[in-house]
Amino acid sequence: MTASRVLVLNSGSSSVKYQLLDMSDSSRLAAGLVERIGEQTSRLKHTCLTTGDTREHTGPIADHEAALKAVAEELGRDGLGLDSPELAAIGHRVVHGGMFFTEPTVVDDEVIAEIERLIPVAPLHNPANLTGIRTARALRPDLPQVAVFDTAFHTTMPESAARYAIDPKIADRHRIRRYGFHGTSHAYVSRETARLLGRAPQDVNVIVLHLGNGASASAVRGGRCVDTSMGLTPLEGLVMGTRSGDLDPAVIFHLARVGGMSMDEIDTLLNKRSGLFGLCGDNDMREIRRRIDESDEEAALAFDIYIHRLKKYIGAYYAVLGTVDAVVFTAGVGENAAPVREAAAAGLEGLGLAVDPELNAVRADVARLISPKDARVAVAVVPTDEELEIATQTYALVGKNN
Ligand code: ADP
Repeated sequence: MTASRVLVLNSGSSSVKYQLLDMSDSSRLAAGLVERIGEQTSRLKHTCLTTGDTREHTGPIADHEAALKAVAEELGRDGLGLDSPELAAIGHRVVHGGMFFTEPTVVDDEVIAEIERLIPVAPLHNPANLTGIRTARALRPDLPQVAVFDTAFHTTMPESAARYAIDPKIADRHRIRRYGFHGTSHAYVSRETARLLGRAPQDVNVIVLHLGNGASASAVRGGRCVDTSMGLTPLEGLVMGTRSGDLDPAVIFHLARVGGMSMDEIDTLLNKRSGLFGLCGDNDMREIRRRIDESDEEAALAFDIYIHRLKKYIGAYYAVLGTVDAVVFTAGVGENAAPVREAAAAGLEGLGLAVDPELNAVRADVARLISPKDARVAVAVVPTDEELEIATQTYALVGKNN
């Protein structure tokens, strides 16, 4: 029997999301989430996707090790345990791979040490990702563990796009450059867009707009990323749910010197209390649209600022790419919010971009075109699937050895 299952783990600071996939047909066998790890009210929600059974437990789960053991137990109850010979590998989402990791990588001690060395540039994410890797390794030391990096897809960016215009010696000493994030999604969605167009990825230029709570845009030429909107950290670029995106760096000096705020306070302000939430008190696009329908001016201005930034990036990446075959919307907002897609494309007919109102209004969870038939540039909605992409990359790496 060939082992064809891959467990995908996404370990956050207080949560673990997981999916078990069978890569013989890319089907999903189980999925779930452990949240509030370390609190009294931890919660595990597990769904067996072959039977549709869902189980939920609330109660203290002390740490990631306990969380993974609980997940293993739930999988075991469905006959899908971590001890199964059908499990080929565990694929881990790792947020920051720096310049070192350009591809998915089988985890060994040296890989762990390098992910650790990147903690200064990813202080929130990499420690949690590492905890997940270490715990999974301890549970199944014999099983290949693969790290799939959010930054890897963007390592093809040319230096002209990846470097900030600061002294390179200082930049290099502190590993300061534009890394980009959401790479697993940008990779998957740009490839699926080529498939939707019936063309090979190397033959198309695509602008990908990943609009979730975090949001980023990327310019993909022939399947390779040439620019992306997030930078050293996920703070740069588009207006997001709670992050400001681009701003004049002098705002930070001003808040410190004139506003008397500490660096930590400014960090929290820009990452957690800005963006749509900072502008109007809501970061959920559904709520913002509902408020706009009730003539709420604050929500309308937040929406306009969000769209203005999005348009600027579409224009910028159009210029970076020279010719564009498709602009594609993905993630929670991109896949669901027709008014965002309509507003982002409005007025861009000169660039060959247009959205067909009827196609745009269709609600569906499949990849689809929303541009008029004769459009010069295709506009598409392509649901992202980061777990499938992590599983695919993991299986491609270890499947060879099976
Ligand atoms: P993340 O993975 O970054 O947490 P998601 O890609 O799941 O984010 O996107 C979450 C966001 O998607 C929500 O905050 C909300 O703004 C938006 N969203 C989800 N469903 C809808 C919908 N039906 N209409 C408009 N926006 C939606």
